Amino acid sequence: MPDRGNPSQASAPGGAIHPRRVLARLRQVMAGPGSAQDKLDRIVQIIAADLVAEVCSLYVLRPGEILELFATEGLRREAVRNTRLRVGEGIVGMVAAQASALNLADAAAHPAFAYRPETGEEAFASMLGVPVLRSGRVVGVLAVQNRARRQYSDDEVETLETVAMVLAELVAAGGLLPPEEIGTVEASAAMPRKFEGAALHGGLAIAPIIAHGVTEAPRDLVADDPQAELDRLETAVAGMHRALDAMLADQGLAKVGGESREVLETFRLIAADQGWIGRIAEAIRGGLIAEAAVERVRAETRARMRQITDAYIRERLADLEDLANRLLLQLAGRAGPEVLPPRFILAARRIGPAELIEYHARGLAGLVLEEGSPFTHAVIVARALDVPVVGGCRDLLQSLAPGDSAILDADEGRLLLHPEDEVRQIYERAAEHRRAERAAWADLRDLPARTRDGVPVTLLLNAGLLLDLEQLRITGADGIGLFRTEIGFMARGGFPDMETETAIYRRVADACGEKPVLFRTLDVGGDKLLPGISADSEENPALGWRSLRIGLDRPAVLRRQLRALLHATAGRTLRVMFPMVATVAELREARAQLDRERAQAEREGRAPERVLVGAMLEVPSLLWQLPALLKSVDFLSVGSNDLTQFIFAADRGNVALAERYDFLSAPMLNLLAELVSACNAAGVPLSLCGEAGARPLEALALLGIGFRAISMPPTGIFPVKAMLMTLDLAPFADFLRSARLSDSGGASLRGRIRAYARDHGIRV
Ligand code: PEP
Ligand code: MG
Repeated sequence: MPDRGNPSQASAPGGAIHPRRVLARLRQVMAGPGSAQDKLDRIVQIIAADLVAEVCSLYVLRPGEILELFATEGLRREAVRNTRLRVGEGIVGMVAAQASALNLADAAAHPAFAYRPETGEEAFASMLGVPVLRSGRVVGVLAVQNRARRQYSDDEVETLETVAMVLAELVAAGGLLPPEEIGTVEASAAMPRKFEGAALHGGLAIAPIIAHGVTEAPRDLVADDPQAELDRLETAVAGMHRALDAMLADQGLAKVGGESREVLETFRLIAADQGWIGRIAEAIRGGLIAEAAVERVRAETRARMRQITDAYIRERLADLEDLANRLLLQLAGRAGPEVLPPRFILAARRIGPAELIEYHARGLAGLVLEEGSPFTHAVIVARALDVPVVGGCRDLLQSLAPGDSAILDADEGRLLLHPEDEVRQIYERAAEHRRAERAAWADLRDLPARTRDGVPVTLLLNAGLLLDLEQLRITGADGIGLFRTEIGFMARGGFPDMETETAIYRRVADACGEKPVLFRTLDVGGDKLLPGISADSEENPALGWRSLRIGLDRPAVLRRQLRALLHATAGRTLRVMFPMVATVAELREARAQLDRERAQAEREGRAPERVLVGAMLEVPSLLWQLPALLKSVDFLSVGSNDLTQFIFAADRGNVALAERYDFLSAPMLNLLAELVSACNAAGVPLSLCGEAGARPLEALALLGIGFRAISMPPTGIFPVKAMLMTLDLAPFADFLRSARLSDSGGASLRGRIRAYARDHGIRV
C-alpha cells in the first residue's frame, strides 16, 4: 500500500485544468527557499493536486540509460532513489524509449507493465506518463497515476507535457539537482574526439566548428501576460515571413536558381503553415512565454521525427526545425545568426536549405549533421555548392563548444574534434596538396581529353540539379552523360506542373548547347522516395517496384515526363534513356509510349528533330539479350552502381560489403569487355555512368577494356583527365587482358592494376 495516497481524490476528476495556474505555482516553489529535494517534493505535490491524481512521480535519466525515481507524491517514500528502470522497461521506460506520452486506463494490462513492489503501485489502475524532453532528448519521465480506471483528458496530457518541459530546464540547469546527478557525461573540453558518420559529399575542411540552432534557453518560461506573448509571436512570424520573402527576392540568390529555388519556395509555404503556428499559440495559451512555446513544439517535432521512418515526412519535419530557429531569432530581436568566424564548419542536428545558403554566403567550409541522408534538402543544396558534408554523427552537438577546433574529412565520413597538433599538420598538408592539385587541374580544362598515345576519350558529367550545370563550364566536360531527372523532384518534394518541368529540361538542354545530354526517365523507388509514387514499404526495395517498372505500370506518369522532354527539346535532338530495364520487351513497351507522345508532339509542332533512345544496363538479365537489345537501342549506358550490386548480390549502400566485392575484378571487367565488343560490332555507342568512372584507377581499367566514353560526378573530371594524359593505352590494354583472362579466383585485381600504373608513371 502506498503510504501517502489520498483516497478522497480517488474518483475521476472532471474539473478544468489550468496549466497557467500550475506553472505559476511551480515558479513560486522554484524561486522560494529550501533544498533541491524539498523543491522537487513540493513540485510533484502541486502537480498531483492540480491534476487530481493520487500519484505524481518524476524519474530522471541517469548515465547508462537508467531511469531513477527522484521524487514522488503518492508512492512509497523508500522507493525514491531506489526504484530504477531501464529505458524500454515498464511503462515509464516505454515512455522514455518512444519519447511520447502513454495514456493508460489500465496500466497493469499493458504488455510493458513492470511491477515494482517497493513502490506499492499495484493499487493504481490508470497512468499517464510523458517524456521530459530537452533539445529533443529524453532526460526523464513525469507520470501521474489514479486508483480508478480513467483515461486522462487531452487537456491533462497537454498540462503534464508543459510542466515536463519546465522540469527539463530545471533538471538541466542544475537548480534542483546537484550536477553530478544529472544523467549526462560531459566530454572533457580539449580531449581529441572522433565522430564517424556517412560521407554525403566529399572534401576536406579545417576550421573552427560552430553549432547551429543551439539557442540559450530562457530561464523564466512562464508567461505573466499570454496576450502579450501572442502579440510577440505574431510580430515574429510576420518578421520571419518578410525575411524569407526578401531572401527569395534577393538578386544575389538568382544564381542558385532552378530546383534549389523551388526548394526555398516550398519552404516558404511550410512557413505559412497555420497548423504549426497554431500549436505554438496553443502552448502560449497554456502558460508559456513565446520562446518556450516554440521550443516546446520543436521538442515534440524532434521526438516525433525519431519515430518516423518515412524519409519524405522526416524531411518536411526537418524544415520545421529550421523555421523554429528563425522564429527564435526573430523573438530575440536578431535578424541573423551570431558573429561567425570567416571560415567555419557548421554542426547541426538538421538544417534547412535556406539557412544553408545563408551560411554559405558567410564562409561555410563544411557541414556535419547529427542526422541527414543523401536526399535531405540541405544536403542536395550543399552538394551543388560543393560544401563537404558528413551526416549521421550522433551526439555531436552536446560534445562541442562554439569555436572548438575541428577537421571535417568528408571523404572518409569523419569529424575530428580538438585534433592533436600532429594530426592537424597532416591534414593541413593534405589540404595544401589538394589546393595545389586543384589549381593545376584547372589548367587541364581546355586541353583535349586524349591518352598519351593519342586515343580520344569522351568525358561526361552526371548531373541532376540545374545548379550542377555550371560544372559544364568549370570542368570543360563534353556533355552530360546522365541527367537524373528524379533528383530535382526529390529536392522539391514532389512533381512540378508540366510547364515547370518542361522549362527545367529546356534549361538543361540550353546549358548544353551543342554538347549532348542524356536524360534519364524517373528512377524512383529503391532508396529514392517520392511521395505519391514510391511504394510504402518493401522487403527488398532495390529489387522492388522501382524505376521503369513504375513507369510501365503507371504509363500516365511516364508519358507525362516523355511529353515534357519532347517539348523541351523541340527542334533539337532528344536523347532519352530508360533505367532498370530487365527485358527487351520492357524497353519496347517504353519506346511505344515514347512513339505515341512523339507523334502527338509532331502534330502540335513541338517535337524534336531527332530522338535517340537508350537503355541503362543495370540489370544482369540484359546481358543475355544483347542481340535483340542492340537492335532496339540507339545507345547504351552501363549503370555501374546498380549493375555491380546485382552482379555480386551485394547492397550498394552496405558499408560492411564495400571492401568484399571489387569493381576491379575479373568477373566484372570480363563481362564489360564482352559488352564493349558486342556494342562495337553492332555500332551502338556505349558509355558508363555511375560513380566508378570518377576514380582514376577504375577509369583506367575501363579504358583498358575498350570504353571510350565515361560519365561521372564533376569531381572526377580533372583527376581522370590527368590520368589519361599520362597513359599509353595500347600496352596497358594488353596487360589488363592477360591479367583478367588468367585470373581464376574472381578476387580484386586492384593491386596489380595499381602496381602497373605506378611502374609506368600513370597518374592515378
Ligand atoms: C547506376 O546505377 O550506376 C546509376 C547511374 O544510377 P543510380 O546511381 O542513379 O541508381
Ligand atoms: Mg541505377
